[in-house]
Amino acid sequence: MPEGDTVWLAAKRMNTALSGQTLRRGELRVPQLAATDLKGRTVAEVVPRGKHMLTRFTDGWTLRTHYRMDGSWHIYRKGARWRGGPAFSIRAVLATDQWDCVGYRLHDVTLVRTTQEDTVVGHLGPDVLGPDWDLDEAVRRLRSHPDEHIGVAVLDQRNLCGPGNLYKVEGLFVCGVHPWMRVADVEDLPGLVERTRALMLANRDRPEQSTTGDLRRGRDHWVYGRKDKPCYKCGTSILRGDQGPDLQERITYWCPTCQATDAAVDPLARTGEPDHPRPLTSAT
Ligand SMILES: [Zn+2]
Repeated sequence: MPEGDTVWLAAKRMNTALSGQTLRRGELRVPQLAATDLKGRTVAEVVPRGKHMLTRFTDGWTLRTHYRMDGSWHIYRKGARWRGGPAFSIRAVLATDQWDCVGYRLHDVTLVRTTQEDTVVGHLGPDVLGPDWDLDEAVRRLRSHPDEHIGVAVLDQRNLCGPGNLYKVEGLFVCGVHPWMRVADVEDLPGLVERTRALMLANRDRPEQSTTGDLRRGRDHWVYGRKDKPCYKCGTSILRGDQGPDLQERITYWCPTCQATDAAVDPLARTGEPDHPRPLTSAT
């Protein structure tokens, strides 16, 4: 699943391949931009902004693309076979004399004036992996909705941008915070944000996403994807449930012991009814 660190690494590689280069081929395979030919434009730089990728051209235009749940950019040496998926899933091709950058299943493919990038990314909170990261501002935005559940608030890119579901889940575990705790009740909110950021920083230069420090499959996450398995710290079975507004629910995992919370804020403990969160019956 793409997270901010995935986009960060992809943008870094794309920037190495494309910056200063003139496109020999530049296709956007989305209906509203199908007639746009980027051939002949020179790439100034490629930068990540949360889970958005901004490819800036020297003529003052920016191509914005978004990964959402399933998108990705692949970089191939000229002449190598493209292997990111079927041709119909390709949304963009940016090619130079040396490299083919191919965007699969990208979303929100948009061309905007570079001076007007704010119209597409201006709503985002401080970028966890950005050079202008601002902890105080991120915490201020989180605290402006004190009744929001922390597991929802951390994923809201208007508060801080970059973290996806994996780092949300793991950051909450590492800090011992229950996903359904109110923002106002989180004892050390700056600490939670900084620990979540540290997990992303530790992974941004590699494709693996380990939050335990162990890169072995099955040992790389504390609770994410580990429903019913014993917690590495205390042995309690890991729980799994849906969290978030209708239609945007994300699967969350937590250890009911390490992330124990006051019964008053634990919906399972308070009601005894598994309506919210709803534990899932299907396997991970
Ligand atoms: Zn535990």
